Amino acid sequence: MNDSSSSIAQSLQTVGAQLVNYEQRYQRAAGSVRLLAVSKRKPLSAIQAAIASGQRAFGENYVDEGVEKILTLGDASIEWHFIGAIQSRKCASIAQHFQWAHGVDRVKVANKLSSSRPAASPPLNICLQVNLDNEDAKAGVAIEDVPALAAECTGLPGITLRGLMAIPAPREDMAEQRATFARLKTCLTSLQTEFPQMDTLSMGMSGDLEAAVAEGATIVRVGTAIFGARES
Ligand SMILES: *Cc1c(COP(=O)(O)O)cnc(C)c1O
Repeated sequence: MNDSSSSIAQSLQTVGAQLVNYEQRYQRAAGSVRLLAVSKRKPLSAIQAAIASGQRAFGENYVDEGVEKILTLGDASIEWHFIGAIQSRKCASIAQHFQWAHGVDRVKVANKLSSSRPAASPPLNICLQVNLDNEDAKAGVAIEDVPALAAECTGLPGITLRGLMAIPAPREDMAEQRATFARLKTCLTSLQTEFPQMDTLSMGMSGDLEAAVAEGATIVRVGTAIFGARES
């Protein structure tokens, strides 16, 4: 193992142990929080190092980069999540190559993902991205519009509505982080009566993991804490 692959192995272990610790601290069931390793802008060698340590779920936010990695690795045991903003001209590519898309925020995109999902593949799992802080520059549907969008996405062939995703504005204070994540949790809970297949809360990144687990995250999306800082 070279230096960077052993440090990835170590970081994965550290983050995994943190998740176990937070699950216990916040009375979450053991194993109820899945770790999505966000490998955007990281080389294939970094992903391979994570795979060698047992990681199986990876998140990418650039379609072309992600598809190239998926095809190059050609490993059917890996679950690929598209977590970036979804442009409608990229929907076909996402639907063909990924198992999850977390950034669905309009029905046009849901329709395109649905119609371009290959018939031989199981439905694409989708999460609706919610713009919790009403930030102009950020993708996502306003929280009050989530129920209508959920209704429109349900019943489309080729996709399964699994839950909600958010990328809140960065906050230092854990109580504030928790209050924001709690709004997403409340929104999911209220939808679950009508849409019982919605079981996923995709929230929490390297800087707000603990708050996300405390408030019910089922998928945390972690890049920096596993792979180190990205050059941008
Ligand atoms: C980059 C990214 C992450 C990971 O962020 P880190 O701070 O590096 O852990 C998670 N979610 C989304 C949508 C991202 O774009």
